[in-house]
Amino acid sequence: MKEDFYDILGISKGATAAEVKKAYRKKAIEYHPDKNPGDKSAEEKFKKAAEAYEVLSDPDKKARYDQFGHQAFEGGGGFGGGFGGGGMNMDDIFSQFGDIFGGGGFGGGFSGGGRQRRTKGSNLRIRVKLTLEEIANGVEKKIKVKRKIQAPGTTYSTCSTCNGTGQVTRITNTILGRMQTASACSACGGSGQIIDHRPAGTDAQGLKASEETVSITIPAGVEDGMQLKVAGKGNEAPGNGIAGDLLIAIEEQEHAELQREGNNLHYDMYISFSEAALGASREIDTVSGKVRIKIEEGVQSGKILRLRGKGIPSLNGYGKGDLLVHVNVWTPKTLNKEQREFFEKMSKDEHFRPNPETGEKSFFEKVKDMFS
Ligand SMILES: [Zn+2]
Repeated sequence: MKEDFYDILGISKGATAAEVKKAYRKKAIEYHPDKNPGDKSAEEKFKKAAEAYEVLSDPDKKARYDQFGHQAFEGGGGFGGGFGGGGMNMDDIFSQFGDIFGGGGFGGGFSGGGRQRRTKGSNLRIRVKLTLEEIANGVEKKIKVKRKIQAPGTTYSTCSTCNGTGQVTRITNTILGRMQTASACSACGGSGQIIDHRPAGTDAQGLKASEETVSITIPAGVEDGMQLKVAGKGNEAPGNGIAGDLLIAIEEQEHAELQREGNNLHYDMYISFSEAALGASREIDTVSGKVRIKIEEGVQSGKILRLRGKGIPSLNGYGKGDLLVHVNVWTPKTLNKEQREFFEKMSKDEHFRPNPETGEKSFFEKVKDMFS
Protein backbone atom coordinates (compact mmCIF):
# COMPACT_ATOMS: atom_id res chain seq x y z
CA MET A 1 0.00 0.00 0.00
CA LYS A 2 1.49 3.31 -1.04
CA GLU A 3 1.63 6.11 1.46
CA ASP A 4 -0.81 8.96 0.98
CA PHE A 5 0.83 11.95 -0.72
CA TYR A 6 -0.75 14.40 1.68
CA ASP A 7 0.54 12.40 4.65
CA ILE A 8 4.05 12.33 3.18
CA LEU A 9 4.14 16.11 3.04
CA GLY A 10 2.27 16.44 6.32
CA ILE A 11 -0.53 18.60 4.92
CA SER A 12 -4.29 18.32 4.65
CA LYS A 13 -6.33 17.75 1.49
CA GLY A 14 -7.43 21.36 1.33
CA ALA A 15 -3.83 22.67 1.24
CA THR A 16 -3.18 25.57 -1.13
CA ALA A 17 -0.47 25.53 -3.79
CA ALA A 18 1.67 27.72 -1.55
CA GLU A 19 1.26 25.33 1.38
CA VAL A 20 2.19 22.35 -0.79
CA LYS A 21 5.32 24.13 -1.93
CA LYS A 22 6.26 25.19 1.57
CA ALA A 23 5.73 21.69 2.99
CA TYR A 24 7.83 20.14 0.24
CA ARG A 25 10.57 22.68 0.64
CA LYS A 26 10.80 21.76 4.33
CA LYS A 27 10.99 18.03 3.63
CA ALA A 28 13.49 18.49 0.82
CA ILE A 29 15.81 20.43 3.09
CA GLU A 30 15.41 17.96 5.94
CA TYR A 31 16.08 14.85 3.86
CA HIS A 32 18.46 16.29 1.26
CA PRO A 33 21.18 13.71 0.47
CA ASP A 34 23.89 16.34 1.01
CA LYS A 35 22.68 16.67 4.58
CA ASN A 36 22.25 12.95 5.18
CA PRO A 37 25.17 11.27 3.42
CA GLY A 38 24.75 7.51 3.27
CA ASP A 39 21.41 7.56 5.06
CA LYS A 40 19.16 5.34 2.98
CA SER A 41 15.97 6.09 4.88
CA ALA A 42 16.49 9.83 4.44
CA GLU A 43 17.06 9.29 0.72
CA GLU A 44 13.87 7.28 0.56
CA LYS A 45 11.89 10.04 2.29
CA PHE A 46 13.51 12.60 0.03
CA LYS A 47 12.27 10.72 -3.04
CA LYS A 48 8.82 10.12 -1.63
CA ALA A 49 8.44 13.81 -0.88
CA ALA A 50 9.55 14.67 -4.42
CA GLU A 51 7.06 12.19 -5.84
CA ALA A 52 4.26 13.63 -3.73
CA TYR A 53 5.20 17.15 -4.73
CA GLU A 54 5.37 16.23 -8.41
CA VAL A 55 1.70 15.26 -8.26
CA LEU A 56 0.28 17.74 -5.77
CA SER A 57 1.95 20.75 -7.38
CA ASP A 58 0.32 20.00 -10.73
CA PRO A 59 -3.38 20.93 -10.77
CA ASP A 60 -4.31 18.21 -13.29
CA LYS A 61 -2.41 15.45 -11.55
CA LYS A 62 -3.68 16.62 -8.17
CA ALA A 63 -7.29 16.47 -9.38
CA ARG A 64 -6.78 12.95 -10.70
CA TYR A 65 -5.07 11.87 -7.49
CA ASP A 66 -7.81 13.40 -5.35
CA GLN A 67 -10.40 11.43 -7.31
CA PHE A 68 -8.68 8.09 -7.92
CA GLY A 69 -5.79 7.98 -5.44
CA HIS A 70 -2.63 6.15 -6.47
CA GLN A 71 -4.57 4.15 -9.04
CA ALA A 72 -4.65 7.27 -11.17
CA PHE A 73 -0.99 6.63 -11.96
CA GLU A 74 -0.85 2.81 -11.99
CA GLY A 75 0.67 0.83 -14.79
CA GLY A 76 3.96 2.63 -15.02
CA GLY A 77 5.98 0.10 -13.03
CA GLY A 78 6.77 2.13 -9.99
CA PHE A 79 8.66 5.22 -9.19
CA GLY A 80 11.47 6.01 -11.56
CA GLY A 81 10.07 3.61 -14.11
CA GLY A 82 7.47 5.83 -15.68
CA PHE A 83 5.77 7.65 -12.91
CA GLY A 84 2.91 9.68 -14.31
CA GLY A 85 4.29 8.91 -17.72
CA GLY A 86 7.29 11.12 -17.13
CA GLY A 87 9.70 9.15 -14.98
CA MET A 88 11.64 10.78 -12.23
CA ASN A 89 15.20 10.32 -11.11
CA MET A 90 17.49 12.30 -8.87
CA ASP A 91 18.18 14.71 -11.73
CA ASP A 92 14.51 15.46 -12.10
CA ILE A 93 14.24 15.99 -8.38
CA PHE A 94 17.13 18.42 -8.38
CA SER A 95 15.72 20.26 -11.36
CA GLN A 96 12.49 20.81 -9.44
CA PHE A 97 14.56 22.86 -7.06
CA GLY A 98 14.82 25.68 -9.55
CA ASP A 99 11.24 26.46 -8.80
CA ILE A 100 11.37 25.58 -5.10
CA PHE A 101 14.51 27.37 -4.08
CA GLY A 102 14.42 30.21 -6.55
CA GLY A 103 16.71 29.01 -9.32
CA GLY A 104 20.29 27.97 -9.40
CA GLY A 105 20.36 24.56 -7.76
CA PHE A 106 20.92 23.78 -4.14
CA GLY A 107 23.79 25.00 -2.03
CA GLY A 108 26.51 24.85 -4.62
CA GLY A 109 25.26 21.66 -6.18
CA PHE A 110 24.14 21.40 -9.74
CA SER A 111 22.28 23.90 -11.78
CA GLY A 112 18.85 22.62 -12.67
CA GLY A 113 17.56 22.26 -16.18
CA GLY A 114 19.67 21.92 -19.29
CA ARG A 115 20.93 18.63 -20.60
CA GLN A 116 24.48 18.82 -19.45
CA ARG A 117 25.21 19.40 -15.84
CA ARG A 118 27.39 22.38 -15.28
CA THR A 119 29.22 22.66 -12.04
CA LYS A 120 28.31 25.65 -9.99
CA GLY A 121 30.73 27.60 -7.86
CA SER A 122 29.95 27.76 -4.17
CA ASN A 123 27.73 30.49 -2.78
CA LEU A 124 29.12 33.23 -0.61
CA ARG A 125 27.24 34.61 2.37
CA ILE A 126 27.57 38.03 3.90
CA ARG A 127 25.59 40.04 6.41
CA VAL A 128 24.58 43.63 5.78
CA LYS A 129 23.57 45.92 8.61
CA LEU A 130 20.91 48.45 7.71
CA THR A 131 19.41 51.35 9.61
CA LEU A 132 15.65 51.75 9.74
CA GLU A 133 15.99 54.79 7.47
CA GLU A 134 17.88 52.73 4.87
CA ILE A 135 15.20 50.07 5.06
CA ALA A 136 12.43 52.63 4.67
CA ASN A 137 13.96 54.33 1.67
CA GLY A 138 15.91 51.53 0.01
CA VAL A 139 19.65 51.84 -0.37
CA GLU A 140 22.54 51.01 -2.61
CA LYS A 141 25.47 49.36 -0.78
CA LYS A 142 28.96 48.82 -2.06
CA ILE A 143 30.38 45.73 -0.46
CA LYS A 144 33.85 44.24 -0.62
CA VAL A 145 33.60 40.55 -1.41
CA LYS A 146 36.41 38.01 -1.38
CA ARG A 147 35.61 35.52 -4.11
CA LYS A 148 37.42 32.90 -6.14
CA ILE A 149 37.74 33.62 -9.83
CA GLN A 150 39.12 31.71 -12.77
CA ALA A 151 42.80 32.47 -13.24
CA PRO A 152 43.77 33.51 -16.75
CA GLY A 153 46.08 30.97 -18.34
CA THR A 154 44.31 27.92 -16.96
CA THR A 155 43.70 25.40 -19.73
CA TYR A 156 41.31 22.46 -19.80
CA SER A 157 40.68 19.29 -21.75
CA THR A 158 37.60 17.09 -21.99
CA CYS A 159 37.29 14.50 -19.22
CA SER A 160 37.76 10.99 -20.64
CA THR A 161 35.84 9.24 -17.83
CA CYS A 162 32.51 10.90 -18.63
CA ASN A 163 33.31 12.16 -22.13
CA GLY A 164 32.64 15.67 -21.02
CA THR A 165 29.10 15.11 -19.81
CA GLY A 166 30.10 15.54 -16.18
CA GLN A 167 27.99 12.64 -14.99
CA VAL A 168 28.01 8.91 -14.72
CA THR A 169 24.79 6.89 -14.78
CA ARG A 170 24.13 4.01 -12.48
CA ILE A 171 21.23 1.51 -12.43
CA THR A 172 20.32 0.29 -8.96
CA ASN A 173 17.59 -2.04 -7.72
CA THR A 174 15.53 -0.55 -4.93
CA ILE A 175 12.30 -1.64 -3.31
CA LEU A 176 10.60 0.79 -5.64
CA GLY A 177 11.97 -1.00 -8.67
CA ARG A 178 14.92 -0.33 -10.95
CA MET A 179 16.11 3.16 -10.55
CA GLN A 180 18.47 5.15 -12.64
CA THR A 181 20.62 7.54 -10.76
CA ALA A 182 23.00 9.95 -12.34
CA SER A 183 25.78 11.23 -10.18
CA ALA A 184 28.60 13.65 -10.73
CA CYS A 185 31.68 12.23 -12.39
CA SER A 186 34.29 11.83 -9.69
CA ALA A 187 37.21 12.22 -12.10
CA CYS A 188 36.32 15.79 -13.06
CA GLY A 189 33.99 16.70 -10.21
CA GLY A 190 31.07 17.03 -12.60
CA SER A 191 32.53 19.76 -14.76
CA GLY A 192 33.28 17.50 -17.72
CA GLN A 193 36.72 19.03 -17.95
CA ILE A 194 40.13 18.26 -16.55
CA ILE A 195 42.71 20.95 -15.87
CA ASP A 196 45.69 20.71 -18.20
CA HIS A 197 47.68 23.57 -16.87
CA ARG A 198 47.18 26.11 -14.13
CA PRO A 199 49.30 29.13 -13.28
CA ALA A 200 51.13 29.42 -9.98
CA GLY A 201 49.08 30.78 -7.11
CA THR A 202 45.87 29.01 -8.04
CA ASP A 203 44.09 26.21 -6.20
CA ALA A 204 43.51 22.69 -7.53
CA GLN A 205 40.57 23.92 -9.58
CA GLY A 206 42.55 26.68 -11.25
CA LEU A 207 40.86 29.38 -9.19
CA LYS A 208 42.49 32.26 -7.40
CA ALA A 209 41.32 34.57 -4.64
CA SER A 210 40.25 38.07 -5.58
CA GLU A 211 38.63 41.01 -3.86
CA GLU A 212 35.83 42.77 -5.64
CA THR A 213 33.47 45.60 -4.81
CA VAL A 214 29.96 44.53 -5.52
CA SER A 215 27.22 47.08 -5.66
CA ILE A 216 23.91 45.87 -4.25
CA THR A 217 20.57 47.58 -4.58
CA ILE A 218 18.51 46.84 -1.49
CA PRO A 219 14.81 47.50 -2.04
CA ALA A 220 12.76 49.40 0.52
CA GLY A 221 10.81 47.26 2.97
CA VAL A 222 13.24 44.42 3.69
CA GLU A 223 13.21 42.81 7.13
CA ASP A 224 15.74 41.44 9.56
CA GLY A 225 16.63 37.87 8.62
CA MET A 226 15.66 38.18 4.96
CA GLN A 227 18.08 36.92 2.36
CA LEU A 228 18.75 38.61 -0.97
CA LYS A 229 20.55 36.91 -3.80
CA VAL A 230 22.97 38.45 -6.27
CA ALA A 231 23.22 35.78 -8.95
CA GLY A 232 26.68 34.95 -10.22
CA LYS A 233 28.63 36.93 -7.61
CA GLY A 234 29.68 33.92 -5.54
CA ASN A 235 32.78 31.85 -6.26
CA GLU A 236 33.40 31.03 -9.89
CA ALA A 237 33.53 27.41 -11.03
CA PRO A 238 36.34 25.91 -13.07
CA GLY A 239 36.07 25.54 -16.84
CA ASN A 240 32.64 26.08 -18.31
CA GLY A 241 30.94 26.03 -14.91
CA ILE A 242 28.79 28.86 -13.69
CA ALA A 243 29.55 31.12 -10.76
CA GLY A 244 27.78 30.66 -7.45
CA ASP A 245 25.60 33.33 -5.90
CA LEU A 246 26.24 35.99 -3.34
CA LEU A 247 23.67 35.64 -0.56
CA ILE A 248 23.06 38.71 1.54
CA ALA A 249 21.50 38.34 4.97
CA ILE A 250 19.72 41.49 6.13
CA GLU A 251 20.38 42.66 9.65
CA GLU A 252 18.17 45.45 10.91
CA GLN A 253 19.76 47.84 13.39
CA GLU A 254 17.66 49.04 16.27
CA HIS A 255 16.42 52.60 16.03
CA ALA A 256 16.85 54.84 19.04
CA GLU A 257 13.21 55.98 19.10
CA LEU A 258 11.15 54.02 16.61
CA GLN A 259 10.02 50.43 17.02
CA ARG A 260 9.07 48.45 13.98
CA GLU A 261 6.14 46.06 13.85
CA GLY A 262 5.67 44.71 10.36
CA ASN A 263 5.42 47.80 8.20
CA ASN A 264 4.10 49.99 11.00
CA LEU A 265 6.30 52.00 13.32
CA HIS A 266 5.62 52.94 16.91
CA TYR A 267 6.83 56.00 18.74
CA ASP A 268 6.37 56.66 22.47
CA MET A 269 5.79 60.34 23.15
CA TYR A 270 5.95 61.65 26.72
CA ILE A 271 4.20 64.89 27.65
CA SER A 272 3.78 66.67 30.96
CA PHE A 273 0.54 67.25 32.94
CA SER A 274 0.44 70.80 31.75
CA GLU A 275 1.07 69.91 28.10
CA ALA A 276 -1.80 67.43 28.34
CA ALA A 277 -4.04 70.18 29.68
CA LEU A 278 -2.85 73.03 27.47
CA GLY A 279 -1.89 71.22 24.30
CA ALA A 280 1.60 71.07 22.77
CA SER A 281 3.55 70.93 19.56
CA ARG A 282 6.48 68.52 19.15
CA GLU A 283 8.95 67.66 16.46
CA ILE A 284 9.72 63.96 16.14
CA ASP A 285 12.06 61.88 14.00
CA THR A 286 10.52 59.69 11.36
CA VAL A 287 12.21 57.52 8.76
CA SER A 288 11.56 60.24 6.19
CA GLY A 289 12.74 63.22 8.19
CA LYS A 290 11.35 65.30 11.04
CA VAL A 291 7.64 65.83 11.46
CA ARG A 292 5.82 68.33 13.71
CA ILE A 293 3.00 66.88 15.74
CA LYS A 294 0.24 68.90 17.34
CA ILE A 295 -1.20 67.61 20.60
CA GLU A 296 -4.70 68.91 21.22
CA GLU A 297 -5.44 70.41 24.61
CA GLY A 298 -7.19 67.97 26.92
CA VAL A 299 -5.49 64.93 25.36
CA GLN A 300 -5.81 61.68 27.35
CA SER A 301 -2.82 59.55 28.22
CA GLY A 302 -2.78 56.46 26.00
CA LYS A 303 -4.11 58.24 22.95
CA ILE A 304 -2.66 56.95 19.70
CA LEU A 305 -2.09 59.33 16.80
CA ARG A 306 -1.82 57.64 13.44
CA LEU A 307 0.41 59.25 10.83
CA ARG A 308 -0.65 57.54 7.63
CA GLY A 309 2.10 56.46 5.26
CA LYS A 310 4.91 57.42 7.63
CA GLY A 311 5.87 53.77 8.20
CA ILE A 312 7.83 51.30 6.08
CA PRO A 313 6.88 50.67 2.44
CA SER A 314 5.81 47.13 1.70
CA LEU A 315 8.41 45.11 -0.15
CA ASN A 316 6.10 44.36 -3.06
CA GLY A 317 5.81 48.08 -3.75
CA TYR A 318 2.16 48.48 -2.81
CA GLY A 319 1.38 50.76 0.08
CA LYS A 320 3.18 51.92 3.17
CA GLY A 321 2.76 51.31 6.86
CA ASP A 322 1.82 54.03 9.36
CA LEU A 323 3.60 55.68 12.23
CA LEU A 324 1.66 55.30 15.47
CA VAL A 325 2.46 57.91 18.08
CA HIS A 326 1.53 56.81 21.60
CA VAL A 327 0.84 59.71 23.92
CA ASN A 328 1.95 59.13 27.52
CA VAL A 329 1.41 61.70 30.25
CA TRP A 330 4.52 61.70 32.38
CA THR A 331 4.12 61.90 36.14
CA PRO A 332 7.02 63.24 38.26
CA LYS A 333 8.08 60.91 41.06
CA THR A 334 8.80 63.67 43.59
CA LEU A 335 7.35 67.11 44.35
CA ASN A 336 8.67 70.02 46.41
CA LYS A 337 6.55 71.74 49.03
CA GLU A 338 5.19 74.38 46.72
CA GLN A 339 4.29 71.88 43.98
CA ARG A 340 2.64 69.62 46.54
CA GLU A 341 0.43 72.46 47.74
CA PHE A 342 -0.48 73.27 44.17
CA PHE A 343 -1.65 69.73 43.42
CA GLU A 344 -3.40 69.37 46.79
CA LYS A 345 -5.41 72.44 45.96
CA MET A 346 -6.29 71.10 42.52
CA SER A 347 -7.23 67.67 43.83
CA LYS A 348 -10.13 69.23 45.73
CA ASP A 349 -11.39 70.86 42.56
CA GLU A 350 -14.33 68.92 41.14
CA HIS A 351 -13.13 69.77 37.64
CA PHE A 352 -10.12 67.47 37.93
CA ARG A 353 -12.06 64.42 39.05
CA PRO A 354 -11.84 61.76 36.28
CA ASN A 355 -15.06 61.77 34.34
CA PRO A 356 -14.58 59.81 31.12
CA GLU A 357 -17.03 60.87 28.47
CA THR A 358 -19.38 58.20 27.26
CA GLY A 359 -17.96 56.94 24.02
CA GLU A 360 -14.36 57.52 25.12
CA LYS A 361 -12.47 54.43 24.14
CA SER A 362 -10.76 52.13 26.62
CA PHE A 363 -7.20 51.00 26.09
CA PHE A 364 -8.34 47.63 24.75
CA GLU A 365 -10.72 49.21 22.30
CA LYS A 366 -7.93 51.40 21.00
CA VAL A 367 -5.68 48.41 20.51
CA LYS A 368 -8.48 46.65 18.69
CA ASP A 369 -8.93 49.67 16.41
CA MET A 370 -5.24 49.75 15.66
CA PHE A 371 -5.29 46.29 14.17
CA SER A 372 -8.54 46.59 12.29
ZN1 LIG B 1 34.31 13.51 -15.87
